[in-house]
Amino acid sequence: MRAPLIDPFARAITYLRVSVTDRCDFRCVYCMSENMTFLPKKELLTLEELDRMCSTFVGLGVEKLRITGGEPLVRRDIMTFFQGMSRHLESGALKELTLTTNGSQLERFSQDLYDAGVRRVNISLDTLDEKKFADVTRWGRLAQVLRGIDAAQKAGLRVKINAVALKGFNEDELPTITQWCAERDMDLTWIEVMPMGDIGNEDRLDQYWSLSDVRKSYAEHYTITDLAERSGGPARYVRLEETGQKIGFITPLSHNFCESCNRVRLTCTGELYMCLGQEDMVDLRAQLRDHPTTEEPLEQAIRDAIEHKPKGHDFDYSRQRADGQMTRHMSHTGG
Ligand code: SAM
Ligand code: SF4
Repeated sequence: MRAPLIDPFARAITYLRVSVTDRCDFRCVYCMSENMTFLPKKELLTLEELDRMCSTFVGLGVEKLRITGGEPLVRRDIMTFFQGMSRHLESGALKELTLTTNGSQLERFSQDLYDAGVRRVNISLDTLDEKKFADVTRWGRLAQVLRGIDAAQKAGLRVKINAVALKGFNEDELPTITQWCAERDMDLTWIEVMPMGDIGNEDRLDQYWSLSDVRKSYAEHYTITDLAERSGGPARYVRLEETGQKIGFITPLSHNFCESCNRVRLTCTGELYMCLGQEDMVDLRAQLRDHPTTEEPLEQAIRDAIEHKPKGHDFDYSRQRADGQMTRHMSHTGG
C-alpha cells in the first residue's frame, strides 16, 4: 500500500472537494456578481481528466469526494463522471461520494445520483420565502428547488440543508427553517459568510451575521446541548432537545477549527488549493496533461502540494474590515 497523504501538521488528508465547473444557473448575492465572467471551456478539466485526477487521489488514500462548483449539475454530462466514480465505491477504496448543489437540477438527476452510489446531498437554501429566494439567488426560483428536494428524498438521498446566515435577511426565519427541516427529517447547517471574491456592490460586513448570534437565537427558542461530534471539518453541532434535531455551525470567522482540517480542494481548472482561505496552490492540470500515460509525476506533485498545506486561514472581520479576503470566488475553488 502507498503511504497516505499527511501534511506538515500531522493531519491526514482523506477528503477532496472538487469543483467541476465555475458556472451556475443562480447568481447568489454573497457568491457572485450579477455579471460574472466565466472561464473559457478549454481551461476546464475534461470529464476524463476529472476522472483521472480523482482516481489518483483515491489511490493516495482519499476516502471522501464532494463534488461542487459553481453548480455541479449544470456541467454537461456530469452523470458520466459520477457513474465513473462509482467503481471506487464498489472497490471499497472510496467510502463516500457526495455533492453540494443549489437543488435546481435535482428533479432531473436525483435517481441517477442514487444509482451512481451517492447517498447524501447538501442542498443550499437560505430562505423559504419565494420573493426573498428570488432576491438572494437573483436567478433562482424556490418552487424548482423545493421540487428538487422532494425528488432527492424520494430517490432515497439523505438531505442536509446549508443556509448562509445573512444579517437582516434570514434572521427572522431561523425558527421556520428549523421547523421545516425537522418536519422533513433533514439536517441543517448554518454557514458564516466568507470574504471570497468580488461580489459587485454588495458589502460583506453588511451581510455578516455571526453564528455566535445565531446560537443565541437558538437558545431563545430551544434547549440546546453541545455535541462532541466532529466530521474533520469546520462544523460544530448542537442538538435541539425539543425536536431532537442536530444543527451544525460552520464558523470560519467567529471561530476557526483549522487544526483538524482533513481536506484539500481541486478547482475546475485543476489547481489544488490546500486551504480555502489561502492563495497557495499547485497546478495539477499541467502534470496531468504533460504526462498522459503515467501517474507518477501527478502523484508526486500531489504529495509535494500536501507538504505545503498551511496551518489555517486568516479570515477576520473583527477590525470592521473583511480581512483575509480572497480574490477568487467560492464558485471557482468550490464551496
Ligand atoms: N452551487 C452549489 C450550491 O450553491 O450549493 C455548490 C457551490 S456553492 C459555492 C457551495 C456553498 O458555498 C453554498 O452553500 C453557498 O451558499 C456557499 N457560499 C458561496 N459563497 C459563500 C460565501 N462568500 N461565504 C459563505 N458561503 C458561501
Ligand atoms: Fe451558484 Fe452556489 Fe454560488 Fe449560489 S452559491 S451562485 S448556487 S455557486
